[in-house]
Amino acid sequence: MQTIRLYNTLTRSVEPIVPHEAGRITMYTCGPTVYHYAHIGNIRTYIMEDVLEKLLVYAGYEVKRGMNITDVGHLTSDADTGEDKMLEGAKREGKSAMEIARFYTDAFFGDCEKVNVKKPEIVVPATSCIDDFIKLIQILFDKGYAYMAGGNVYFDTSKVDDYYRLTGHSADDLMVGVRDDVTEDTNKRNKTDFVLWFTTSKFGEQELRWDSPWGYGYPGWHIECSAISLKYLGEYLDIHAGGVDNIFPHHTNEIAQSEAAIGHPWCSHWFHPRHLNDKSGKMSKSKGGILTVSALEENGYKPLAYRFFCLQSHYMKQLVFSYEALANAQSAYDKLLSRVAAVKAEAEKSGEAPDENAVLEYRQRFIETVGSDLNTSLGLTLLYDVIKAELSPATKLAVIEDFDRVLSLDLTKAAPEESAGEDLSHLEELLIKRAEAKKAKDWATADAIRDEVKAAGYMIVDTPEGAKLKKI
Ligand code: AMP
Ligand code: ZN
Repeated sequence: MQTIRLYNTLTRSVEPIVPHEAGRITMYTCGPTVYHYAHIGNIRTYIMEDVLEKLLVYAGYEVKRGMNITDVGHLTSDADTGEDKMLEGAKREGKSAMEIARFYTDAFFGDCEKVNVKKPEIVVPATSCIDDFIKLIQILFDKGYAYMAGGNVYFDTSKVDDYYRLTGHSADDLMVGVRDDVTEDTNKRNKTDFVLWFTTSKFGEQELRWDSPWGYGYPGWHIECSAISLKYLGEYLDIHAGGVDNIFPHHTNEIAQSEAAIGHPWCSHWFHPRHLNDKSGKMSKSKGGILTVSALEENGYKPLAYRFFCLQSHYMKQLVFSYEALANAQSAYDKLLSRVAAVKAEAEKSGEAPDENAVLEYRQRFIETVGSDLNTSLGLTLLYDVIKAELSPATKLAVIEDFDRVLSLDLTKAAPEESAGEDLSHLEELLIKRAEAKKAKDWATADAIRDEVKAAGYMIVDTPEGAKLKKI
């Protein structure tokens, strides 16, 4: 078992992941709020979390991973203001909140599958755990951390010693955002207190409500993740993951309430991939729709080219999305597939067996490289080194397949058999240009490209995974 080092938001340093129980890692991931499609920014976070989980397994750990589905309680602000996002989705589409949740949960996992993001073994909708939230809130009451005011149950942050531990910011730095909150909710004893359970209050329209010792109502967002994680992964959590926006207030509040309830430190390693934004600085709606993996596909881009695009950069760097950047990534990805196809063809022709020792050596190097703060771009460099190395084709192919357990780029599966042994990168660039021309409704250029490709001996076949080349 090799050590994996990863930046820990809690300690502000790159540290080895040391599981509470040797060899076994528990990992919790904040799941999607299913009131709309997940945009490609959200998916970037899930891709990096997927790489981390697969790297840990590749390095020999047993990983138990859980994720919630937020289908109640996440308000339009990350604090306690605005309306429930699920209610917003239900109103927008004239459906019930549960119909909305079901539809967008399926859409989320559908998009995850397209980019080879594995579904965690434990996936729990918040609405299935109401009793667990109530039990946890009761414990917080019994221990003196919760109070009622104006019909809601609040967590008293003044009872916690080091509330800002995760953010590293002083209270004053964070007050800017919090102060607005205060003017809206005078029930709170302290500015940073947050709602554990809503009852009457101003959210009377809420469709999903349950009985509780504090009245008919519904849970706050933060309690969901604490309760689900504690229930399924136990009192000692090794890794907690979520996008950088979750650090405050969501994860800060999760730590406060979990540790108040269990009475000891809870999670040792906090993993926060940075955001993907567009040039306007925010990843949100574009041309009337959310930019999803499926939308990329409709525009002629392969979902796995998007995964490749994400792996080319470090997760701690903000990433700016543009179709131009994605087209470059797709072109590089297609070239890589062609090169792997050539290796595969040679390996099959040779009929040789791979050198298993070399495969193990490369595995070790890959773990060292990517396991140094999830350096996926250096992992890709190592992959290119393997393709160029003085190894037999069979060994190269075995190493590539091995790396792909973590990269999940379908490196050997997607390699087009027709192109094995040939460098088709020029034609693949033409496919990208054709997709752009089609998007711009420039049919003349699209047709001209089709003719050019045909003259090179290939026809273009449009498939749900994007345009493909087929030898004539
Ligand atoms: P949500 O569905 O809003 O609860 O978010 C799902 C996940 O996506 C969370 O881990 C968020 O932190 C993360 N996230 C939100 N916006 C972005 C973004 N622009 N880029 C990357 N991750 C994001
Ligand atoms: Zn969460």
